[in-house]
Amino acid sequence: MGLHWGAGPLQALLPEEQWSRIQSVQVDPNEPTAEQDALNFLNGQSGEAMASIPARYFYRLRRRKLRALMEQGLDIRYGKRLQNIQYSADGKHATAIFEDGSSIVARIIVGADGARSTTRRVLLGPSRGEVRRLPYCATFVQAQYSAERARYLRQFHPLYIAGINPAGYFSFLGLHDATDRERPETWTFFFYISWHSSLQEQRETAGWGNAQRLAQVKKFAKTYTDPWKSAFEWLPDDQQVWYMGLSDFDPRDPSHRWDNHGGRVTLAGDAAHAMTYQRGQGLNHSITDAANLVEAVRRIVSGEATQADAIKEYEDEMIARAGSEVGLSTVNTAMLHDWHKVLQSPVMTSGMQRSTEIKAN
Ligand SMILES: Cc1cc2nc3c(=O)[nH]c(=O)nc-3n(C[C@H](O)[C@H](O)[C@H](O)COP(=O)(O)OP(=O)(O)OC[C@H]3O[C@@H](n4cnc5c(N)ncnc54)[C@H](O)[C@@H]3O)c2cc1C
Repeated sequence: MGLHWGAGPLQALLPEEQWSRIQSVQVDPNEPTAEQDALNFLNGQSGEAMASIPARYFYRLRRRKLRALMEQGLDIRYGKRLQNIQYSADGKHATAIFEDGSSIVARIIVGADGARSTTRRVLLGPSRGEVRRLPYCATFVQAQYSAERARYLRQFHPLYIAGINPAGYFSFLGLHDATDRERPETWTFFFYISWHSSLQEQRETAGWGNAQRLAQVKKFAKTYTDPWKSAFEWLPDDQQVWYMGLSDFDPRDPSHRWDNHGGRVTLAGDAAHAMTYQRGQGLNHSITDAANLVEAVRRIVSGEATQADAIKEYEDEMIARAGSEVGLSTVNTAMLHDWHKVLQSPVMTSGMQRSTEIKAN
């Protein structure tokens, strides 16, 4: 995941000793994060340069390694799946009930359980709490190659590159893991192609297996130039791929407003604001939510604010900030898959800037 403007809030959340190791959880720990970098966009068919989006301190983080860095010193119970929430009559506590029958009584429950959040569905009901499915989907690959091929694919950019294909496809190719600099055959690349696909088409192909998905994305890749053309062509026929429809959840929609029970329950991250990923904003907002929640809890504990007020203020700011990005990211996704509108898309006109700053400019 790309962390850029959210790096400041993450640094503020972590003890200095942990932040000092942020480099070690990058996809390539040997490649120091440059102060000034750029995300380059190519015409996926011709290979011509289309745009170079400036990025300051663009960290490329490995999810698993980042989690391992951050979990130190925390009491985390893995394998617990939230099922329901109950509230005490005195207005002071909430109880998280898990699928294994166990429970935890807390002063506050923060549902940070991702885009398909159970907490959100518990708060809003199964229908209002559901994500909105969008007419776009993508097929993802993680793959390794021979040393020679891996070196060739990395020539286009050491870390990441985006491609826009006039046929209506968007694509990304990045490094997932290159811990061992000297052995390119151990490097893992991560790449995908996304495209417009009606909800009906998504329903009709829901039963497709791996072989069909791989064949479909390989066919799309034939319309590409390198690095995508070769990256897909070189995949074996049994290569595992992941297919996923795109979706969003805009917390600004009045029907999406949840009752926080006097500040005893709230949402953060994708659970509160699932967004499409082509503008690379979700993690940056999620980390910002965490930093703001910590501040809210500090004010509650110190007695500066009541729990109801502090959590309401957190939610109001988060809903406006991240909600505007949900809307912008969905517009961005639609434009990136329409060749005539690509150059007017938010990522082309405003890069990876925060949506609230784009409006202010
Ligand atoms: C392909 C792709 C590329 C992306 N690239 C970028 C990028 O470059 N930059 C960027 O800023 N963002 C990016 N994002 C978005 C980013 O990944 C998310 O915004 C971010 O991971 C959200 O973090 P989260 O903790 O809210 O949710 P998640 O990372 O989804 O974590 C949710 C956690 O909750 C757990 N969980 C789920 N249900 C339950 C339950 N019932 N009980 C208990 N636990 C549960 C899950 O197991 C998971 O561990 C990308 C997303 C995708 C899909």
